Amino acid sequence: MREGLTVSEAQVWIQQAVPTLVAEVVPTADALGRVLSESVVSGRRIPPADCSAMDGYAVRVADLAGAGPGSPVELSLVFEVAAGGRASRPLRAGEAARIFTGAPLPEGADAVVKQEDTEEAGERVRCGVVPAPREHVRDGGEDIDIGDVVLETGCVIRPAEIGLLASLGRSMVPVHRRARVAILSGGDELVEVDGDVSGGRIVASNSYTLSAQCRAIGADPVYLGISPDRPESVEQQFRAALLADCIVSSAGVSVGDHDHVRTVLEKLGCRLEFWGVKMKPGYPLAFGRFEGSGSAGGPIVFGLPGNPVSASVTFDQFVRPALLRMMGHTRCFRPTIQARLVETLRKKPGRLHFVRVTLERSDGEWLARATGNQSSGVMRSLALADGLLVFPLEAEELAEGEQATVQIVDDGFFAAEQPGF
Ligand code: AMP
Ligand code: MG
Repeated sequence: MREGLTVSEAQVWIQQAVPTLVAEVVPTADALGRVLSESVVSGRRIPPADCSAMDGYAVRVADLAGAGPGSPVELSLVFEVAAGGRASRPLRAGEAARIFTGAPLPEGADAVVKQEDTEEAGERVRCGVVPAPREHVRDGGEDIDIGDVVLETGCVIRPAEIGLLASLGRSMVPVHRRARVAILSGGDELVEVDGDVSGGRIVASNSYTLSAQCRAIGADPVYLGISPDRPESVEQQFRAALLADCIVSSAGVSVGDHDHVRTVLEKLGCRLEFWGVKMKPGYPLAFGRFEGSGSAGGPIVFGLPGNPVSASVTFDQFVRPALLRMMGHTRCFRPTIQARLVETLRKKPGRLHFVRVTLERSDGEWLARATGNQSSGVMRSLALADGLLVFPLEAEELAEGEQATVQIVDDGFFAAEQPGF
């Protein structure tokens, strides 16, 4: 087992280690946020045939030579085509057909004159313009043709993709499976959310935070409760977790006398690959795999630190990208921006610090300000944060006015109160 990786070494290691989950076929209507496991090839043309883009009259351009607002040309109005309807016969010279948006263009017609440029008079219609050939006509297959690759493998399904799939007649769609994540807590001091906190007990809040972090990316958390600090209990809890794709345990693997997680994992056949990442919050992170991990074998395992901020931040840096990758995503990391520091930050070299910051827009740039007490237990300062400022491994000072990279952790950060245009 390796010890003491840098953040980027750990990220690379984990991304290379995680398997992609197998595909399943789900109703298109329920596929929002899922990732396509196969490309989608159209078996249809959309629109199915040449059709009108306007309410107006289908005409033959040649009939309207010389037409103008003061000198309209009169055509015989011979039939009508509604959306979903069909022309009963081709359009002949000197004829026009009433046509509605989306209706198929009659054979023989080569343009549509929009209603506003015409005047209907009984069996006749006067056109005051000469349309360009195919004006207001949508070509059959203009949007999609038979054989077109409409959506590529790996595409994330948003509402537009759902509509597109529906228009192709796909009521079901192949996507990567959601990751099932077993969430475990361990410690004699821990109680459930409505438990008795007298005598220094604390709520096992990490399972709430981490389950929500799973849900936020479309993974399925399965909460397996709190295990007391006893080897048999820890083992029983981990056995129950073996059916998951990923096990997230907090508190995890540390060197304390009461930490049985490591022993139990090894007994169950988990190979711990590394322990310790040079970061703050969150040094004591463990990553392991069961033989044949992934769809075929056992789950991947993260032993997260128990401190609430450390657990949440390490989840975000390592578990979140791993789960996204398992579920077929290729863009697994949070976005970053550059921001100017409004205060000087100092630390010892040797660990990368993720500093909880708020961000504010000023004179065309972002300003970053630490959210106060950065201790690993202070969840409020994480709740207040818009982002995590990256204070590099060996750096000792980031001076006021310097630019730094900030990872945006609030999914709604770029949402606005005003339209902005
Ligand atoms: P440990 O890693 O067991 O030494 O725990 C470090 C700190 O995190 C201790 O203060 C624990 O009480 C706390 N802690 C451990 N597990 C959880 C949890 N599931 N929810 C909230 N705090 C926890
Ligand atoms: Mg503990």
